[in-house]
This record gives sequence, structure tokens and C-alpha cells, in this order.
Amino acid sequence: MLVMKFGGTSLGDREHIDTVVSLVRGRLPRRPILVCSAHGGVTDLLLDGAHAAAAGKPDLQPIVARETALLEALGLKPSLVEPELDCLEQMFQGLKLLPAGLAPQVLDQVAAFGERMSVKAIAAYLKKRRVPATAVQADEAGLVTDARHGRARPLPAAYRNLAKHLRGVKGVPVVTGFIGRAMDGSVTTLGRSGSDFTATIVGRAVGAEEVEIWTDVSGVLTADPRIVPDARPVKALTYAEASELAYYGAKVIHPSTIQPAVEKGIPVRILNTMQPDAEGTVIGPSRPRGGLKVTSIASKSGIFLVNITSGRMLGQSGFMAKVFDAFRAHDVIVDLIATSEVSVTVSVDKPDGLDQVVQDLREFSKVQVAKDNALVAVIGERMRRASGLAGRVFDAVGRERIPVRAISYGATKTNLQIVVPEKRRADTVKALHAVLFP
Ligand code: ASP
Ligand code: MG
Repeated sequence: MLVMKFGGTSLGDREHIDTVVSLVRGRLPRRPILVCSAHGGVTDLLLDGAHAAAAGKPDLQPIVARETALLEALGLKPSLVEPELDCLEQMFQGLKLLPAGLAPQVLDQVAAFGERMSVKAIAAYLKKRRVPATAVQADEAGLVTDARHGRARPLPAAYRNLAKHLRGVKGVPVVTGFIGRAMDGSVTTLGRSGSDFTATIVGRAVGAEEVEIWTDVSGVLTADPRIVPDARPVKALTYAEASELAYYGAKVIHPSTIQPAVEKGIPVRILNTMQPDAEGTVIGPSRPRGGLKVTSIASKSGIFLVNITSGRMLGQSGFMAKVFDAFRAHDVIVDLIATSEVSVTVSVDKPDGLDQVVQDLREFSKVQVAKDNALVAVIGERMRRASGLAGRVFDAVGRERIPVRAISYGATKTNLQIVVPEKRRADTVKALHAVLFP
């Protein structure tokens, strides 16, 4: 069995959808299961629509227009998604009366309609093109999650439920990405771009031979092509490398995508719908020998650096524990850590809760917070075998006179991270790319 996940662009117009149909047809002997995003742009329209409705201006027109145009282009009847549009209309009218109603639960419920409509359209179009198919709403098919709306995670029962449900589906199952259901019955979403995550959840549930993520780029590149125009495709990545890359800002896959695949050792292949013959990137437990030592350079903006010093704690145990307790108490996630005996520098990429953390820390230490930084990560599991790599990295940034504000090079050495001023982010990525991928 094979899972094929198609993103919003791949399902955004007739031309792309025709390509999808021929890709699916070519893989029928491998018993594909499709996981689909909303048609490109629809999730944003839905969320914007919900906010406008709560502000007293409900307007379903943009969504109706987009869906209708697409269905007509596919030669399908717009009435196919009438029940969903009716539901949305009622919800938007309700939001107008209930301005305080924009809870994360409500946003999830609204956003879910993008995928609900998309799978109906794709299944109908496949049938029209003589590929037997059935639309499957993942929440109704047992994809149960925790109740963290907007960033839900699957519960263990989800795998069993999905496997059982999908066994009974006729033709190619066309499953909604992105959405699930909490035990209290409310609709949840797995976070923006969450359909990638759904794909590996489904893959693990059915024990798929492979999960294909069909997107609008030819796999992972050695750097962000907007910063490094001659960035090159990366043929293979390990699970660890891909997770780091996703976490550090490469937009290719949702950061949680890899986890379900790891548990069953399922390869995940990133492919380009517009260049179906390009090799793409395969992500698996290991990668062939002789490949790259460093696989890619990722970077992330908006980094806060928190510097914590305490003379009083010199030579005493428990300082680190107290520091990290403060971060835990306010649910603030730390990315990079650099330490010495009496000081710790940590980087944080979301300011939420940071003020309270700083307040707590000030009870026993001096704290400085610097904003407007970027984190640049050099990623590659074989980095530990590349002698002199750290030297080359620091030479390169030194030559460009880029001030490095923090460094972290962990014991597993999958990743070397440096923090630099935001305005030197692009220079840093370019300089490192030039020396690491000559
Ligand atoms: N439609 C959702 C989004 O736009 C999920 C996805 O596309 O993966 O974020
Ligand atoms: Mg995506």
C-alpha cells in the first residue's frame, strides 16, 4: 500500500488535478490511499472569513466563488459541496451574533471545511475519470486526537481505527488531511500544513510501503532558494535530519510528519507534482554511504536570546534546573542552549510567556533579552565525521564579519547552530552555503 499526499497547489486548478489523476492511475497496482489538503488558498479564505464574521461582516462569497469555479473547471456540479457551504453560512451568521465565539475550537471547525470539500471534489473527479474512489472524512474514520485545538496530535487509537475503517473503503480512499476529532467530539486540526502529518499517520496505520508527499518543489534543497538561488536538491535525508530541517524553518514538510514514519521505518518521499519525474528527496532510517556530510542549511527569524547569569550560583548545583524550571512553568520552548559555569544563553522563537519566565529568572539571576536575531542551523548526521567542519563554518562567518551571538554543537552533532543578527541572516546562509557546498 502507498500513501500519496497532495498539497494545496497540487489541487489548486484543473491542470494540476489532471496530473494528480494520472499519477494516481499509474500507481493503482500499489493500492494508493490519497491524503488531500484543501484547494490552494481555501484554508486562508476560511480563517479570514471566520475573523471577518466575528467582526460583524460575514461573507461567504470568496469561498463560494473559489469552490464553484474549481468544480466547474472539473466539469462537476457545484451542488456537490452545497451541504458544506450551507453549514459554513450558518456558522458565519452565528459568529456575527457571538463575537466572543472565535475560540480555537471554532477556528478548527471552520478550517476543516477546506479539506472536507476538497476530498469530495477529488473523489468525484477521479470517478468521472474512471478511477474508483471514495471520499473519507478523517474525523469520521477514527482519526482521534488530543484536544489541543490548532495543534492536535493523534491518540494511539487513531491508528487502529483508521486501519479498520480504510479496509472497508471501496476504490481509492481520498482522505482529508489536517483534521481529526477530540474525544469530546469537537473537530481538531493538526496545525497549518498538517496534511503532511496526516499522510504519515495514515501510512503508519495501514503499514504503507512508502508515503509520497506531492508538493510544489522538487524535494528538499541544500538551502532556501530565495536566499541561495543555486541551492541544490538533496537526494536523501535521515529521519533525524529531516525533523531538524522542518523544525528549523524549512517549509517543505510539517515538523511532526516524520514521527509516525519513524515508528514503522516507512520511507517518506518528497516529490513535485509539476515535475513528476524529478527524483525528489527520500527520507528514511538511514541514507546511502558516501552521500553528503552536511545535507542542508536552514534558518529561522525572530529569535530571542536570553542570557542568564548568576554569580551566586557559582559552584552550586541546581542552577540549570532552576533556569529550565522557569521555562517549563510558562510553557516556553527553548531551541538552542549554550552554557558556562555561571551563565546560560538560550534561544526562544516565540515571545509568548517569555516575560513571565524573565520575571521568575530575575529572582535568582541577572537576565538580558536580545531580540532581532536569526538562528542558522547546519544539518547533517555525518557532520561528526567531517573533520574541520566547525572551523570552516567559523572562518566563513568571520570573513564576512558576521557577529556570532551564540553557538551550539550538540553531542549527536546532527546540527550545528549559530545565532546572528537578523539583518545578517541571508549573508550567513550564503557564506555557509558557499563553503559547505562548493
Ligand atoms: N489546508 C491546511 C493548510 O493550509 C493544511 C495543509 O494544507 O496541509 O494549512
Ligand atoms: Mg505543505
